[in-house]
Parts: sequence; structure tokens; C-alpha cells
Amino acid sequence: MASTQELKNFIDGRWVAASTGETFENIDPATGELIANVAKSGAADVDRAVEAARRALESWRLYPAPKRGEILYRAGEIMLRRKDELAREMTREMGKVLPEARGDVQEGIDMTYYMGGEGRRQFGDVVPAELPNKWAMAMRNPVGVVAAITPWNFPLAIPTWKIMPALVLGNTVVFKPASYTPMLAVRLVEILDEAGLPKGVLNLVLGPGGELGDHLVSHPGVDLVSFTGSSDTGSHISEIGGRLLKRVSCELGGKNAIVVLDDADVDLSLDGIVWSAFGTSGQRCTAASRVIAHRAVANGLIDKLVGRAKKLRLGSGLEASTDVGPVVSSSQLERVHSFIPIAEKEGATVAAGGRIPREGALAKGFFHEPTVLVDVKPNMRVAQEEIFGPVTAVIEVSGIDEAIKVLNSTKYGLSCSIYTRNVNNAFRFMRDAETGIVYVNAGTIGAEIQLPFGGMKSTGNGHREAGRAALDVYSEWKSIYIDYSGKLQRAQMDGEEAKTAP
Ligand code: NDP
Repeated sequence: MASTQELKNFIDGRWVAASTGETFENIDPATGELIANVAKSGAADVDRAVEAARRALESWRLYPAPKRGEILYRAGEIMLRRKDELAREMTREMGKVLPEARGDVQEGIDMTYYMGGEGRRQFGDVVPAELPNKWAMAMRNPVGVVAAITPWNFPLAIPTWKIMPALVLGNTVVFKPASYTPMLAVRLVEILDEAGLPKGVLNLVLGPGGELGDHLVSHPGVDLVSFTGSSDTGSHISEIGGRLLKRVSCELGGKNAIVVLDDADVDLSLDGIVWSAFGTSGQRCTAASRVIAHRAVANGLIDKLVGRAKKLRLGSGLEASTDVGPVVSSSQLERVHSFIPIAEKEGATVAAGGRIPREGALAKGFFHEPTVLVDVKPNMRVAQEEIFGPVTAVIEVSGIDEAIKVLNSTKYGLSCSIYTRNVNNAFRFMRDAETGIVYVNAGTIGAEIQLPFGGMKSTGNGHREAGRAALDVYSEWKSIYIDYSGKLQRAQMDGEEAKTAP
């Protein structure tokens, strides 16, 4: 067994204990073992971190962007070198199976390299001016101090989605990771420190979001809050940020669906459903927690899906034989399981799973059986609310029109997919799905970092992470006009003669 670690804050370039002198425990969700004692920060730690970030901003915003990018490249190299070790620590800390943990680290590497490249891009606009001897252009400006508040389901990838674009654009950062995954947050900060980030540019504050969160979000020294997590916390943060006219970017939940039409390759769709519903134990914001199946194929699909779900092996994510790891915590386990009686009470049937296994080694961890619910109607709670566990609900429909209607009938709009061999159905679906991400003949998970990531409706507040779109979150446009005519020129008024000239 690995020894228990002490995880500290990183403020102004130094690893420091919390000012409270208190710690909280970081637990392996597969075994219940203690992994680390973690700094339980208070408001004073947030103040110090924000002050350090503000001080560092003055020089970091002037640090040439290509050089900022080079630091990111070096960080990417270190992550690549440490990929296996990071993945193992991630599996221990939050339970996802090792190959998926490696994928999480790889996504972090991809994002770091991608944003490293933005050090030499960050394109602006140079456009013709309407008056002679006048220059017109727009360039990106850093927003200032960014509070990056991240969840536990992608403990490395999601922090890189926020921190890397923020840094390369010249912002400084106060990073508040989820309390279930402080270790990977510490590793990421270690890596950026080793890569040469000047002190104060990235600060880490560990501790409970509920207590620290309001202080961080409302802190006058914070200019932008970038948050990924639950809808409730997202709307709470937006309320505070809105009152203070801060920039707030929220990436929230999903109630993603896979549509299987009667012209689909059903076996192919099964692979996509099993992977998207039960991968990461269903704890992805893009997880397929609904399957919308055409009646003509529904029975066969359900039979096979139930068979596949029952065969999935639960266990520690470190074991090669494990298909599905634990959920992150006992409270998440309770939350996920609470949906089973809710489903039954509303008339749904548990066709596979539905239990918390109490046998052998599984009893020590936070495991939930992969669960398939059938006889589900679109308005039931299990068809409307984010469950965030290995549970999927099958809803039957009679065609593409009804499928799209059911798909769009939740408040969320993150990801969806359709299985069909009919190109007309595929294009209609691509057009009419009210989600930020659409897949055709693939599951609902598997986004790549070079395209925008985010959702419509209550999944967010209009921003996107990843791809070029992320640059708009972490920068402000500055439009610049340079008049070299040597006289007063009035836009929209002078220069009329030019318009009438032959
Ligand atoms: P939260 O939204 O509460 O947590 C996400 C992050 O926000 C964590 O870093 C958390 O800190 C922090 N936080 C919590 N409260 C505040 C606050 N008042 N101000 C600022 N930051 C705050 O999610 P949970 O971990 O409680 O998970 C609950 C549910 O949220 C899940 O079951 C799932 O439905 C959804 N969720 C969705 C995710 C997604 O990717 N869409 C990701 C994670 C959760 P701390 O960890 O210390 O509480």
C-alpha cells in the first residue's frame, strides 16, 4: 500500500499548509483506504492566492505569448513522461479504470500542446478602415485573474481546458479543484511549476467549495470565473457573478441520449450505448443516460443491452479485468442509487442491475451495478434529471420525429447521437438536435479538444471550452484605430465624396 501523502496549497510559488491548520481526507473509492490528508483552506488562503495572482498579472500579461506557449509545451512533455504514474494516481483517487485514466491524461496533454500553439497564433483582425489614412484592427487582451473551479470526473483534462487557454492568453489563475481529486490537481501544478511558470501565475487552493466558493467567486480581485460541475452550483455562481458583473463561464450537466432508428446497425449501436452509458461509471457530463429506440428494434436492442450490462465486471480500476470502477464517493453512490426507487415508483422496470453489490471486496468501495431501466416515459424523473452514475433509461418511440421531440424534451443540451444508415435522417438530426455536440453512428462521449465543447439550454451559459472557441472565454477583444491622416476624420460622416467618386 502506498504511504499517505500530505497535499498542500501552492501560493505565490510555494507549497504551503492551509491557514486554518486543518486537513480533510482523500479516499480511494474502490477500497475506502486513505490516500492523502489535504489542506482544508479558509478565506485567508483564497485572499493570499488572489493577491499573488494579481501581483503576477502585471508581468505575465507582458510576457511574450510565444514564450508562454513554450512553457506549456514543456508542461506537455512532462505530462507525457509521467503519463502512467498520473493515470494510476487518478484511478486510485477517483476510480475510473486505468485505460480511461490514461485517456484523461492524454486529453490533458492534447489540450496543453494545442494551447501551447496558441502562443504563436492568437490571431486578431486587421480590416480596412472606412476613412483614408486610418488603420483598424482588433486584438485579444487577457481578462485578468481567473478562478478555475473544476469537478472530479476528469481530474486532469478539465483543469487543462481552463488553465491552459487562460495562461497562454496572459491571465493568471487561482485553481480550486474538486475535493475528491486534490492529488491530480497538485500534480498538474507541480508540472507547470517544473515547466517554468513564474511564481504567482498559477495558484492552487484546496478545500471545500461550499465554504470557499462564495469567497473566491465574489472576490474583487477575481475577474473571470470558469466553472464545470452541477447545475445548482453553476446557477449559484452565476447569480453572484452576475450581480458583480464578472465574466462567468459555466459548463454544467447533461441528459444525453442515443437514438437508434429502425434502419440502424443495432449491434454497432450497442457498442456505443455500453461505452457511453457505463464508461467512467456513467460519471461523464456527456454520458448516455437515455436510449431512444425505435419500437421496431427496441425489443432486440433491450435484450442485448441487458445481456451486455449484466456481463460487465465491477472492480478496482487498477485491475485489468475490471470494466466498470466505483463511483467517486459514498454520497454519490447514495445519490445514484436513490434514482432506482424513484424510477420504479413512476412505473419504470429495472431490466438489469439496480443494486449496490455487498459481496467480497466490492463491499469496501462505492460500487453500483450497471443498470438498464425500461418502460421509461419521457417525462419521468429518470428521463429528465442527471443521474451521473452507471444507469441508462430506454424510451421507445415510433420514428425520427418523435425521437427528436423526446431528445429535446429535457432542460439540458450537451451531447446526443443517432444510429441510422439513412443520410436524410442523419442530416435532419444534426440540424434539429438542441445540443452542443452531435454524433452520428458513434456514442455520446469522445469529444476531441480541437473543437468547441459545451451545450445549449441549461447545460451552460453560452460559452464553449476547447478549440478556438475557448480563446473567447479567456480574452477580451480590444479594437484599435490609428489615424495617420494628421487631421480630424469623423467616422460615418466624413468621406462622403469618396462614395460619389467615379
Ligand atoms: P459541484 O457542482 O458541487 O462541484 C463542482 C466543483 O464546484 C467542485 O470543485 C466543488 O468543490 C465546487 N463548488 C461546490 N460548491 C461551490 C460554491 N458554492 N462555489 C464555488 N465552487 C463550489 O458537484 P458535486 O461534486 O457535488 O456533484 C454533484 C452532481 O453534480 C453530480 O451528481 C453530477 O450530477 C453533477 N456534476 C456534473 C459534472 C459535469 O461534468 N457536468 C461534474 C461534476 C458533477 P468541492 O468539491 O470542494 O465541493
